[in-house]
Amino acid sequence: MVFQIITLFPEMVGPVLSTSMMWKASEKGLAEFRVLNLRDFGLGPRHQVDDTPYGGGDGMLLMCEPIFAAVEYAKAQATNSKVILTTPKGSRWQQGMAAEFAERGQSGENYIILCGHYEGFDERILTLADHQVSIGDYVLTGGELPALVFVDSIVRLIPGVLGGEQSAQIESFSDGKTLEFPQYTRPAEFRGMKVPDVLLSGNHGEIAKWRKEH
Ligand code: SAM
Repeated sequence: MVFQIITLFPEMVGPVLSTSMMWKASEKGLAEFRVLNLRDFGLGPRHQVDDTPYGGGDGMLLMCEPIFAAVEYAKAQATNSKVILTTPKGSRWQQGMAAEFAERGQSGENYIILCGHYEGFDERILTLADHQVSIGDYVLTGGELPALVFVDSIVRLIPGVLGGEQSAQIESFSDGKTLEFPQYTRPAEFRGMKVPDVLLSGNHGEIAKWRKEH
């Protein structure tokens, strides 16, 4: 599963992609990450990527030419790539969607993720998008954090990335609504706070019942 992130700020995403589960996924050959600097596709000697909006208004918009060129380049690098455009106006990202994408990725789909910045994208860029994704009803400075949320939430669902194969199946939202039960580790008592007796009982039936109730 190849993830290509197109961004003006590669330094924001590189460290996350080489840490923890993302690092593990890439070490095991289960996912591959590439970061493309949008500036490399910019126009003219100054590698221009943005311009002022027609009709006036504050801020700068990412221009069509560099983004179209970057997406065409990325598509040539990995076949069957779907383009994900990060935008607060997109469909709200949910665990169930991450699970769907993880499955489609295992069937050969790859992903190109577009990070907006400044005021966002020239509207014509939306024609490139197979999916428009929002990570919540708030506005961030750029699409880098949303891109990482998208990638992380998918990659950890690829079988073999998390430690136990059941880890992802019993997590919060794995069925779309239920939250995970409370968990404890040693010591059995800390500052007067005790681990529930049932978890120390060794009775797996009772433990499963308690977990379901919680
Ligand atoms: N002017 C845009 C609007 O009002 O909808 C917001 C642009 S925002 C400052 C810059 C970029 O950050 C967006 O183009 C998008 O890529 C990203 N972004 C910001 N908030 C986001 C969110 N909640 N979900 C996904 N992407 C977001």
